[in-house]
Amino acid sequence: MSDLLIVEGLSVRFSGLTALEDVSFRLNRGEVRAVIGPNGAGKSTLFNAISGYVTPTSGTVHLNGEPLTVLTPHAIAERGIRRTFQNGGLFPALTVLENVLTGLHAQTEGTFFDILFGRRKALDSEAANIARARDLLKLMSMEHMADTPAGDLSGGQQRIVEIVRTVASDPPVLLLDEPAVGLSPVARDQMMDIIRRLAGEKGVGILLIEHAVELVMAVADKILVMAAGKRIAQGTPDEIRQDRAVLEAYLGH
Ligand code: ADP
Ligand code: MG
Repeated sequence: MSDLLIVEGLSVRFSGLTALEDVSFRLNRGEVRAVIGPNGAGKSTLFNAISGYVTPTSGTVHLNGEPLTVLTPHAIAERGIRRTFQNGGLFPALTVLENVLTGLHAQTEGTFFDILFGRRKALDSEAANIARARDLLKLMSMEHMADTPAGDLSGGQQRIVEIVRTVASDPPVLLLDEPAVGLSPVARDQMMDIIRRLAGEKGVGILLIEHAVELVMAVADKILVMAAGKRIAQGTPDEIRQDRAVLEAYLGH
């Protein structure tokens, strides 16, 4: 079991509706695996099942050989599977650097004030954390924004800072559910560039749900295509481009 993340036979049923049916795949360190498919395909349900927000009806998830399937979302996040949320909520009055520092210790637990005061202390004493946060911002080409209040950033920049905060503590796996939705073309390209760098330079294994197929083709090592809860194809971008099942069921050709 050398794979970082192994998902086997994962199914989720919601009172009669099969939202996810027998989905399997593997994710390695430093790999970007995109999940594509039309609305209702079960992509977000797949993420929810992996991260513990819904209980799978059957199937297993292993991280570094350890089973995760029965754990709480908090326990799963602690073991190293992190995700961003639509309204991830940066602290707008704190600087970009301070926001990233909140990700270094407090991850899923703690109230706003615990996190805030905990991080204020860190600013005084943890020079190493600050250096690390600056390095990460530099890697993400956001260093020049370090001292800007997060509330002053564009929507796309805020989303990037959220991702930087989420990976600050070096989680092995990152789940991103449509991180580029609503962004300008330039910001979308920047987002994809950052995803590639996180995988390539930090070795993060990334699962990426993305609607824009052309973005996925440029960023993903492997693509998992879903429709109506099932995996209908899986392969490299080139393989997926030529897959008849994908062309028929998803791209509508
Ligand atoms: P996608 O993210 O690919 O658009 P979802 O995973 O959100 O698809 O949804 C898959 C199917 O499961 C849809 O039919 C959706 O309505 C249903 N679904 C998702 N979450 C729930 C839930 N908590 N309760 C009932 N049905 C759900
Ligand atoms: Mg979704």
